[in-house]
Amino acid sequence: MIQHDLVIIGAGPGGYVAAIRAAQFGLNVACVEKEQQLGGTCLRVGCIPSKALLESSEKYAEAKHTLSEHGVRVAGVELDLPAMMARKDRVVKTLTGGVDSLFKKNKVTRYLGTAKLNGPGRVDVTLASGGAEQLQAKNIIIATGSRSSELKGVVLDGKNVTTSTEALAYDSVPKHLIVIGGGYIGVELGCVWARLGSKVTVLEYLDRILAGADSDIAAEALKILAKQGIEFKLNTRVTSARATATGCIVERDGAEPITCDKVLVAVGRKANSDNLGLETVGVELDKLGRIVVDKHLKTTAANIYAIGDVVPGFLLAHKAEDEGIAVAEFIATGHGHVNYDAIPAVVYTEPEIASVGRTEDTLKQQGVAYKKGVFQFRANGRARAMNHVEGFVKILADATTDRVLGVHIIGARAGDLIAECAAAIEFGASAEDIARTSHAHPTLAEAVKEAALAVDGRVIHS
Ligand code: FAD
Repeated sequence: MIQHDLVIIGAGPGGYVAAIRAAQFGLNVACVEKEQQLGGTCLRVGCIPSKALLESSEKYAEAKHTLSEHGVRVAGVELDLPAMMARKDRVVKTLTGGVDSLFKKNKVTRYLGTAKLNGPGRVDVTLASGGAEQLQAKNIIIATGSRSSELKGVVLDGKNVTTSTEALAYDSVPKHLIVIGGGYIGVELGCVWARLGSKVTVLEYLDRILAGADSDIAAEALKILAKQGIEFKLNTRVTSARATATGCIVERDGAEPITCDKVLVAVGRKANSDNLGLETVGVELDKLGRIVVDKHLKTTAANIYAIGDVVPGFLLAHKAEDEGIAVAEFIATGHGHVNYDAIPAVVYTEPEIASVGRTEDTLKQQGVAYKKGVFQFRANGRARAMNHVEGFVKILADATTDRVLGVHIIGARAGDLIAECAAAIEFGASAEDIARTSHAHPTLAEAVKEAALAVDGRVIHS
């Protein structure tokens, strides 16, 4: 049996970051990952490849449709899909290879294989190369992530009726793509294929898209994306979807079936908590199959922790990373925590959508007295110069203390602008603090400052 201080199962952003942080404390750390490439869903088939394609497809769409507004005429714009996919694959390869190097630099032992708990402190690894290894550890972190949820009646075939993983690598542009689910993954990948020329129809069960986002922001996103040509059918319950000889057919309640070339099922994610031998140590799951943890991310079994998508909470890479750091620090020092009120979330559409803290809907539900400041990007000089004038910033602050409770942005580079707002919430800043902070001119960030001024009714530029 090989001894380690800490064995981590899964090398996604939760697991690999926890491994590096624990190694920085001088612990003898091992990480078991069943895929050849390190980095998990995020690096292999999630955040990174989707952002690579969003970036490339946006360049194509700009060259085709909007560069002329800047006085740049381009003729003969053509899509080279294999080259676009090859670039995406190179980005993934570079970054997953980077995690390999970080493991080497930090002396993290990597096992390529599938891990299973086998009683307290014991992890059995079925090696990908054949054979097995038995590991003994003082502490174990489960960071096995999640996979695409399936939908009853929908027959995935990995080619035409697909999950996000295949939709990141279609070998041709579908004429008509149906996306089941209007969450961020469906909307982002819908945008990629719409920009590349697909007719995209998003079928959503709810009466809105982007469940969980501030409802004003979601309504604005729906309007903007519909203007870009994406068709949304809300209040639509899909009852079945399957491949046919000529494409796919999607059936829904109370309406005609729709035929299309490809279907992308993006109805959420399911925790990878099965086949882990959890019963051998007494790790409990909730009703959705996620590992139950306390505020220190301890499971119901001694010295076993769980982080990232496999536990309840946002399904976000940086949330997994923050939890990985917190657990590594907790194991090494007895301290470590995550501030769940200050975790930003970004949807990488054009324009981007970003938020941190509580939504207006939540504040209303909770009966919290709040003040609101809104500033439209069309009144921001830089947004005008860029020709990206859609959207707005909304800041919500406590009515009595002025403390920032939530910031919601739809607009160009919202994903970058939200960093300042997350820092404000982390530091317990007031809207006044943001308003009194000097913001360079002309920048999009001035829209954040103006929204903060608007909280107190003293906006300057509108
Ligand atoms: P994962 O990244 O899922 O990693 C878990 C790892 O564990 C996997 O590599 C898996 O192979 C391994 N594993 C599982 N079981 C075993 C076992 N028994 N033995 C050994 N290894 C095992 N989040 C963002 O923050 N921003 C984004 O822009 C974003 N975009 C996304 C786009 C898409 C299309 C998808 C699908 C997801 C996106 N996400 C995004 C979500 C993000 O990828 C996840 O939240 C994140 O990867 C979760 O990290 P994790 O470490 O918990 O798990």
